[in-house]
Amino acid sequence: MTTNATFSEPAPSALLLLGQGSDLASERGVECAGALPPASSPDLVERARAAKAALGDRVFVLGHHYQRDEVIEFADVTGDSFKLAREAAARPEAEFIVFCGVHFMAESADILTTADQQVVLPDLAAGCSMADMATIDQVEDAWDVLVEAGIAESTVPVTYMNSTAAIKAFTGRHGGTVCTSSNAHVALRWAFDKVGGVDGTGKILFMPDQHLGRNTALRDLGMRAEDCVVFDPRKPDGGLTTQELRDARMILWRGHCSVHGRFSPENVAQMRANVPGVTVMVHPECRNEVVALADKVGSTEFIIRALDAAEPGSSWAIGTELNLVRRLAKAHPDKQVHYLDSTVCFCSTMNRIDLPHLVWSLEQLVAGTVPNRIVVDADDAHWARVALDQMLALPGV
Ligand code: SF4
Repeated sequence: MTTNATFSEPAPSALLLLGQGSDLASERGVECAGALPPASSPDLVERARAAKAALGDRVFVLGHHYQRDEVIEFADVTGDSFKLAREAAARPEAEFIVFCGVHFMAESADILTTADQQVVLPDLAAGCSMADMATIDQVEDAWDVLVEAGIAESTVPVTYMNSTAAIKAFTGRHGGTVCTSSNAHVALRWAFDKVGGVDGTGKILFMPDQHLGRNTALRDLGMRAEDCVVFDPRKPDGGLTTQELRDARMILWRGHCSVHGRFSPENVAQMRANVPGVTVMVHPECRNEVVALADKVGSTEFIIRALDAAEPGSSWAIGTELNLVRRLAKAHPDKQVHYLDSTVCFCSTMNRIDLPHLVWSLEQLVAGTVPNRIVVDADDAHWARVALDQMLALPGV
C-alpha cells in the first residue's frame, strides 16, 4: 500500500477541482498547504527560476513528455515514465526529485531511488485514470477467481508501468514482470516461456491496459483475437465463465487510457482523406481497430525518434497526447505534423501539474518543507522492485 501525508489509496472517483480539499481520503483534489500562486501571477517564471537556483543540485526536476510547456521549461530531463525513474535513480546526489508527471510515476521513482532521496509530486491530484482502473483489492479478487478456475499456476501476471506500486508488488510476489510500451512484446514472450511458450497452454494476466496487451499479443506474438478475454473487475468472476478463462491465453484487465482510447478508425479515415500521403502513427494504448489502420505503432520515445528521422516535407498524423504532439510540431517546422483527433485531447490528470504547483513545490522546498512527498511502503517497494528488476533483466531491455 502507498502512504503519504494526505492519502492512503487512489480512489476510482471522478476528477475534482484543482487544489480544492474536497476528497482528503484520496489523491484527488487535495489542498496545497500555504499559498498556491494564482495562475495569473506575472512573476511565476521568475519565481520558479529563483527557487530552482536556490536549491541548486539538491533538486532534480523530471518532466514527462505529456506535460505542459510551462512545466517542461523547468525540467532537467524529459522522457517517458520509465526513463524518468531511471534518471532519478542515476542522481543520488539530488535530495529532492520533483516529478512532473502522475502519481504512479512518482511511486516508481521512489522505489528506484535511495532512502535518502525524497520524491515530490507537485499536485497530488495528478493521478492516472488507467492506473486507477486496477486497485489491489480487485486484482487480489481476480487472482482468487483464477485459483478457483484451476489456472493460477499456469498464469503469469504482467503489469504495465502505468499501474500503482501495489499492483507492481503483486506482480513481483507472483513471479511476473513489469513492462513498458517499448518492451511489452519481450515481456510477454518471457512470461509465456515460463508457462510452456507462446504456442502452449499457459496464460498471462495483463494489467491494467487491455489495449496494450491485446495489440502486443496480436501484432507481435501472432495470437488471435479469440485468444484474448477481458476480465471486468466490476462483474462477478470478471464477467467470464470458468471455461472462457481456461480457454484464454491472454486475460486482459478491463482498463484503458482515457486519452488514447479516444482515437477512432473514423479519425484515421478522415485524416487520410484530408491529407494525401499522410503517415499515421499511434501509441499502442490506442484501440486495436485504430492500431490496425495505422502505418506505425510505438511508444512516445518511438514516436519522437520517428519524427526526428522523417524526411523534410513529409506529413504525419500522430495519435498520442496533445502536449507532446504540439511540441513535436514546433520542433519540426519542415514537416507537417497533424493531431489525429479533430478535438483537443490533453491528459487531464497530467495537466494538473502546472506552473503554480511547480512554483509552490519548489518554494516549499526552499523554505525547508517537503510537500506532497510520495512514499511507497517497504514491503510493496521490495516486491515492486523485484518486478521492475525482472523487467530490466529481460533480453534487450
Ligand atoms: S495519458 Fe493515459 S495512461 Fe498516460 S497518465 Fe494520462 S490517463 Fe494515464
